[in-house]
Amino acid sequence: MPEWKQSLKQAAITPTQLIEQLKLDTRLLPGAITADQLFQLKVPQHFLDKIDFNNPNDPLLLQILPRAEEALEVAGYTKDALQEQNANPVPGLLHKYQGRVLFITSTTCAINCRYCFRRHFPYQDNNPGKAGWQKVLDYIKQDTSIEEVILSGGDPLTLPDASLLFLIEQLNQIPHLTTLRFHTRVPVVMPERITDGLLAVLDKTRLKRVMVIHSNHANEIDTSVIQALNRLTQHGFTLLNQAVLLKDINDTPEALIHLSKTLFNAGVLPYYLHLLDKVKGTAHFDVDLEQAKLLMQEIAKKLPGYLVPKLVQEQPGMPYKTKR
Ligand code: SF4
Repeated sequence: MPEWKQSLKQAAITPTQLIEQLKLDTRLLPGAITADQLFQLKVPQHFLDKIDFNNPNDPLLLQILPRAEEALEVAGYTKDALQEQNANPVPGLLHKYQGRVLFITSTTCAINCRYCFRRHFPYQDNNPGKAGWQKVLDYIKQDTSIEEVILSGGDPLTLPDASLLFLIEQLNQIPHLTTLRFHTRVPVVMPERITDGLLAVLDKTRLKRVMVIHSNHANEIDTSVIQALNRLTQHGFTLLNQAVLLKDINDTPEALIHLSKTLFNAGVLPYYLHLLDKVKGTAHFDVDLEQAKLLMQEIAKKLPGYLVPKLVQEQPGMPYKTKR
């Protein structure tokens, strides 16, 4: 089995294993068990290795540790905050914005981020598998206004190379497509996935290549992540980052500036800083709009414009992300 498949398999750990491995306070265990039942704990070893377990507020730990607060009912936080199910014409496809569609190619991620906006997404209804992919491809073929296909999930880079090759070959044959975009956290959390075999598959696309990675804190970007990102750049990818503004994780000017600079050194431009989507179980991560705007003012004073991400929020039914 390739190393990355082994890593993926071993990423599903129990709260007890997590607390033992990181030597965390065992009083966290009951809350972790409750929250794990709502959204399974999953974290690859590569990400775990970067956590400072002497720091209970480590910014990487807070992104993956299931906590009792996830079970709280908070007014305004719902299961489908983005109403994505209204833009789901074919299982496995979201068509929210003009000219581009989101192809849900995989129902799993390499990591389960506790703040995830899709933690309640009905993947069981959107898991068409290879047979159902044909319906998605037919939908894309018949709508000539679609220029860009975004492979998303879950995480598309959790798919085997053979499945990615199939998709790339099919998309190559649709004449009105110009761009292939990947939305993935894999290069950051499991860089061993960026293998020669994967790069050879990605090289088969005739489309322009964009990869939007997802990193929220500079501590996520170590040497092996930088190497993986550099290889993607060498293979023709434009690399962008989207982050989520998260309480106690990256809600200071210093953390955001450090993230932007670290990304740039790795060949990635900061693209979006998302305000948290109000998804059930995530309220404890919220940073309010006023504070977010103040943070943006602070970082804009200290960074060149191209390193300042756009502060955005998705609002149901809007034809584009709302700039804040
Ligand atoms: S990688 Fe993205 S889709 Fe997957 S759990 Fe994290 S935020 Fe959600």
